Amino acid sequence: MESLKESLMGVVSRIRSSVLLDSREVDLVIRELQRALLKADVDVGLVLSVSERIKKRFFEEEQPPGFSKKEVLVKILYEELVNLLGGEETPELKVSSTPFKVMFVGLEGSGKTTTVAKVANYYKRKGYRVGVVAADTYRPGAYEQLRSLAEKVGVPFYGDPQERDAVSLALRGVKVLSDKGIQMILIDTAGRHKDEEALMEEVKTLYREVKPDAVVLVVDATQGSAVARQARAFQEAMPFGYVIVAKMDGSAKGGGALSAVASSKARVIFIGTGEKIEDLEEFNPKKFVARLLGMPDLEALLQRFSEFARLEKERARAIASGKITLLDLKEQLEGLRKMGPLSKIAEMMGLQVKVSEEDLNIDKWINIMNSMTMEELLNPEIIDSSRMRRIARGSGVSPRDVKQLLEAYRNMKKVMRQLSRSRMRGLPRGF
Ligand code: GDP
Repeated sequence: MESLKESLMGVVSRIRSSVLLDSREVDLVIRELQRALLKADVDVGLVLSVSERIKKRFFEEEQPPGFSKKEVLVKILYEELVNLLGGEETPELKVSSTPFKVMFVGLEGSGKTTTVAKVANYYKRKGYRVGVVAADTYRPGAYEQLRSLAEKVGVPFYGDPQERDAVSLALRGVKVLSDKGIQMILIDTAGRHKDEEALMEEVKTLYREVKPDAVVLVVDATQGSAVARQARAFQEAMPFGYVIVAKMDGSAKGGGALSAVASSKARVIFIGTGEKIEDLEEFNPKKFVARLLGMPDLEALLQRFSEFARLEKERARAIASGKITLLDLKEQLEGLRKMGPLSKIAEMMGLQVKVSEEDLNIDKWINIMNSMTMEELLNPEIIDSSRMRRIARGSGVSPRDVKQLLEAYRNMKKVMRQLSRSRMRGLPRGF
């Protein structure tokens, strides 16, 4: 994963060193991102769709006040990468019944047997009574491998090297372990057969007969986007809901493997990060991407965005309740700015309010309000003298100017109230 991390950090620093973030610079950022993802073996189609979405969002979404273009782009990049690698939710394998039977499938060499032991260890540490069943009757070493791993983890094991029939072995294993009061039974299955068809037949029959509560597909990160084909083949045999991507440590193609399974219906629950029993990590796309982007201040930035979203909701509430805020004034002024000289507009509207462009100094006010936080725009009453000084500093005016603006806002509130009263008396809407 290190190489993906390095190249994504390159993308971030390219964003940071951009000046205008116009379409040319954004294209450069996107191209760098594409290179990074392709190098990690992310499927070309996915790379293209993620780049398109980032570009589209960046140019179409409104830039929220108080955020720079760079911050907006970083946030979109983060969100789209999270999406690419599995989305917001962090699914987990919940032991919801007893015994909870989990069947592990995957091609030979993917790391399946090792992963079964890792998962056993993980749940054992969480306090569950876990047991494992070696139902791979095909690979000669499988029985012994799982037996010794189970011993290492310290969980009950069931297997029978003489048994050729995987189904009856698995059923017996489940019976024996559940009689022992085991709460979670992990069943390792074959990953190879004389051909793929025979393998799929076997897992299908196992699925039908054992009736597992969950099926986990184990894939090998070093296979990159090629795991998509495996996932499809297994999905045809039985609906699996969970994936574990093993060998994420040191694989340059981990991103490709993760994105390949993330685009399926199944969810990645763990990643394998080494050969040892403990080398298993819960997979959380948000944390994972944050780590990949390697930005110490990313969390703070995301927090600011979610704070902004919260205030947007508050704003919607303010609008719904008819509260007039500074933000309204700001938007009105910005709208007016686009329409032309004020005197003209006032004339057109037949307004009785005394307006003279010089007095109102629209640009200055917009500038002042640009230095306010969303909280202040929505709740101007919180602007005390220290906030006033800060805002004045930020917009290069004197605190008196800020004060004047606040007075004007209070006047506007009065006028608006009058207007809405006269509207109720029958003035046309949209006045
Ligand atoms: P199976 O054939 O699918 O059951 O695969 P195994 O469990 O036997 O694993 C195949 C090889 O991959 C073994 O050498 C494991 O030690 C190794 N392996 C499994 N998981 C990981 C992992 O997360 N990281 C690394 N580096 N190696 C792993």
